[in-house]
Amino acid sequence: PTIPTVRLNDGNAMPQLGYGVWRVSNEEAASVVGEAIRAGYRSIDTATIYGNEEGVGQAIEAAPVSREELFITTKVWNDRHGYDNTLRAFDESLARLRLDHVDLYLIHWPVAGSEAYLDTWRALIQLKQDGRAKSIGVSNFMVPHLQRLIGETGVTPSVNQIELHPGFQQRELREFHAANGIATEAWSPLGQGTLLENEDLVALARKFNKTPAQIILRWHLDNGFIAIPKSVTPSRIRENLDIFDFVMDAEDVRTIVRLDDANGRVGPDPAVFG
Ligand code: NAD
Repeated sequence: PTIPTVRLNDGNAMPQLGYGVWRVSNEEAASVVGEAIRAGYRSIDTATIYGNEEGVGQAIEAAPVSREELFITTKVWNDRHGYDNTLRAFDESLARLRLDHVDLYLIHWPVAGSEAYLDTWRALIQLKQDGRAKSIGVSNFMVPHLQRLIGETGVTPSVNQIELHPGFQQRELREFHAANGIATEAWSPLGQGTLLENEDLVALARKFNKTPAQIILRWHLDNGFIAIPKSVTPSRIRENLDIFDFVMDAEDVRTIVRLDDANGRVGPDPAVFG
């Protein structure tokens, strides 16, 4: 399939559908990332804390496509905030990935109770200027964090990667992103699997002869989000890409919008995490 891209606020294009590798070991990453690339994914989402940058790097090296065709994201972890720490953490990530640049570098969490993310962001601005991170962004930032970041540095993140799925739809944050030119990237886009037996999603899946996972992923893309589903099962890796042969109507979309739950988080709350 041809995966659509979104145009980021710095002019770069990012695939709307990528492959996430949280809770995948180095050894497994080397094989499943290869599987994903052969299936058609071009965007890979890792992070230092996932402990699999080396495995991802091996898969990139062995891939049947060139580096230029791939879009690689990694993230600086909470214990490396601050300007110098972040520059060093970035060098270490590049070495593990065996790359000379990443396509997107993210601040993984703002870290509650600390303002160090401001200096971390200044390091990312430098990395972008140096061309070693083609695009820079954040993850798990809430509206006040974004306002502070933009106000203090004048540089708006290209992406905010946040928990987002039909069970937790983040309308307020999405509106802030739209108003400020920040692309919305959904982590745990399938709600970590918790939504796949929801009766409304099962009914929609039946209507289109698709699976609930495919319905959810299509909803993300129709909303303009970037989604990075994770699976280590080859058939599901392919299934999660096979979402372009049906069209949901306004009533189908309303059915999904109604599943929003303000208490529907499956992951940590950035207001207290870190
Ligand atoms: P997800 O919503 O992608 O769900 C993954 C789980 O759903 C899989 O383990 C599998 O059990 C199931 N699944 C996947 N495809 C399926 C299918 N077609 N049919 C049936 N079951 C299926 O959850 P996730 O892994 O938490 O999130 C995806 C990625 O997001 C991660 O791998 C990681 O890259 C990123 N992430 C980022 C953060 C952050 O703080 N920035 C946090 C969590 C996850």
